[in-house]
Amino acid sequence: MRQSYDVVIIGAGPAGIFAAIELTKEGGAAPTVLLIEQGQDIEARDRGQLTRGWGGSGAYSDGKLILSTQVGGWLADYIPTKDLNSLIEYVDGVYLEFGGEAERFGDKPEKIKQLKRAATLADLELIPVIVRHLGTDICLKVLKNMRQHLGSRIDIAADTAVAEVVAADGRATGVKLADGTVIEAGAVIAAPGRAGARWLAAEATRLGLAKHANQVDLGVRVEVPAPVMEPLTDDFYEAKLVYRSKQFEDRVRTFCVNPYGEVTKEQYHDNIETVNGHSYADRRTANTNFALLVSTTFTEPFTEPIAYGEYIARLANLLGEGIIVQRLGDLMRGHRSTAARLARSTVRPTLVDATPGDLSFVLPYRYISDILEMLAAMDKIAPGVNSRNTLLYGVEVKFYSQRLKLSAGLETDLPGLFAIGDGAGITRGLIQASAAGIVAARAIAKGSRMNGQTTNH
Ligand SMILES: Cc1cc2nc3c(=O)[nH]c(=O)nc-3n(C[C@H](O)[C@H](O)[C@H](O)COP(=O)(O)OP(=O)(O)OC[C@H]3O[C@@H](n4cnc5c(N)ncnc54)[C@H](O)[C@@H]3O)c2cc1C
Repeated sequence: MRQSYDVVIIGAGPAGIFAAIELTKEGGAAPTVLLIEQGQDIEARDRGQLTRGWGGSGAYSDGKLILSTQVGGWLADYIPTKDLNSLIEYVDGVYLEFGGEAERFGDKPEKIKQLKRAATLADLELIPVIVRHLGTDICLKVLKNMRQHLGSRIDIAADTAVAEVVAADGRATGVKLADGTVIEAGAVIAAPGRAGARWLAAEATRLGLAKHANQVDLGVRVEVPAPVMEPLTDDFYEAKLVYRSKQFEDRVRTFCVNPYGEVTKEQYHDNIETVNGHSYADRRTANTNFALLVSTTFTEPFTEPIAYGEYIARLANLLGEGIIVQRLGDLMRGHRSTAARLARSTVRPTLVDATPGDLSFVLPYRYISDILEMLAAMDKIAPGVNSRNTLLYGVEVKFYSQRLKLSAGLETDLPGLFAIGDGAGITRGLIQASAAGIVAARAIAKGSRMNGQTTNH
């Protein structure tokens, strides 16, 4: 490690790795780059470190490359859709170049047209999503290839945490490591992922950077007999449907569809239990599950969307001693589900230790109303979704990191400090996190903060 670099990158997840690849690509300015990762290097890490180490959260991910401007992040808020589409194609090309060969799903134009039409007639919007499913094995192989490629081009410091971003004269000038070492830099890219989101938010507060509260997505996991969802699941890996509710004009969306899958529990910090779902490649259940989530962005004075989501999840845990499950018919009739009522349902719950209860004591009226409207709309394209037998599990909640105020090049209010990826609250998937790395690298190259030609702009 030297004392000074053109660019220092914090975090070796997809965002940081792609920034490094772009900065050092053939024919470029060949800047000096240091990539610092608090976790272990690729050969040393294991599944026990799910979100830390070379590859970040991507290393043991399912490797679903979601090739969409509207799913997997909010880069469309910074980059025109046309440019973002080209960028996503470019990123996909880089994954392919490093060995990410896999089949594409969801790109049959005739099927998309048919489903789009049916969705429109049902007052729903279909967001066509093309997915390349690498799977964990190929994902790891790609990350190893990238590590090898970058090994001869940049300096890499694994098992090294950045404690602070150093600023002087109104701009970022480097980083301070946990052991107190200061490394100077022309530009700093912070790509700390969800593992480092709190750290980045604290640094932003210390440095006086402008932030926006992000949304919180709250709702239920829906479980139906698999044939009910087959009109959607047969041709699409994951059909993303969006509904604008009539009463509140809230955005309600489907998320994480698991054909023939299982509903699962997820443990959040502070012992909060939330619901989730997954499906196995080699084992099928009789049911399909998916989440229905309502997105809420609070306005002033409230700035704690994560606390709000946690509060609702805790309420469900308080009443149900964990996850609550309710038949849709019981919810509509205004009474709780009981074990006896559940036994009369044609849908057998795949999460067996959920407590039969009443979600209307947990979710505010607004959320219940939005979800009931969405189920009625979905029933028009997947008849049976709105059946009294449908099971609803609560609550499912998705939290996102606080967003910093960023320019189109993803630079913060502090010149020279870029914030990208999931930790900056602007992405939530491999493709958009990787794309964010490219955006920051290109902005730095354009601002010529390298080869000692660092300029303020
Ligand atoms: C189990 C799992 C499955 C997933 N499956 C998919 C999927 O199939 N498809 C998909 O699109 N997305 C998936 N995701 C999400 C995807 O992995 C993330 O969106 C993506 O990895 C975000 O990239 P990132 O570079 O922003 O952050 P990360 O990948 O989280 O990397 C950030 C890195 O920064 C390091 N870091 C943090 N703070 C510091 C510091 N102070 N100093 C030094 N280093 C630091 C962390 O240790 C980490 O390695 C999955 C995530 C998980 C956890």
